Amino acid sequence: MPEESDLEQQRGEKPVIAISSCLLGEPVRYDGQARPVNWIIDILSQHCVFQPICPELEAGFGVPRPPIRLQLSDAAAAVVLAGDPTIDVTEKLQAACSRLLAEIDHADGLILKARSPSCGVEDTPVWDEAGIESGTGAGIFTRMCLAARPGFPVIDEHGLESEAGRIGFLIQVFRYCCRR
Ligand code: SF4
Repeated sequence: MPEESDLEQQRGEKPVIAISSCLLGEPVRYDGQARPVNWIIDILSQHCVFQPICPELEAGFGVPRPPIRLQLSDAAAAVVLAGDPTIDVTEKLQAACSRLLAEIDHADGLILKARSPSCGVEDTPVWDEAGIESGTGAGIFTRMCLAARPGFPVIDEHGLESEAGRIGFLIQVFRYCCRR
């Protein structure tokens, strides 16, 4: 992750957007793969400064790593190993998310990977304690970010597929940037 002073130097008039590293082509997913999005890498990169983040790497889970899943009980969100739900990694991941939230304090927006138990914005599969898939929701990092920064511009890569989605997000980001 770039140092804050480097970001300030690169920034100039450009907004800073924190972004899931895997969307920039970094092979940081649990299976060692990336999920690059060409529009983000080729076009959006010309108009902003990216600050890559990966909550699961920050938590020290490594690459490759066992897949995790989001589990909801009594409205509390937890993260457990998909292959062994008795292993709870919530505290480690939350501590990593807190560190990243402090690091992106100066960012003007956030682009996150859809369906991830860490980064998903709204469509991450949610499981109940009985091991039954029970719906969808936001990942752990996203929940913590939205709780700490209400009104912060947040979107996933699906939200940036349409021109209307791109324009709407960028208007929010530039407004946020101007207010700072
Ligand atoms: S979705 Fe988030 S936690 Fe998963 S690899 Fe991408 S950046 Fe890392």
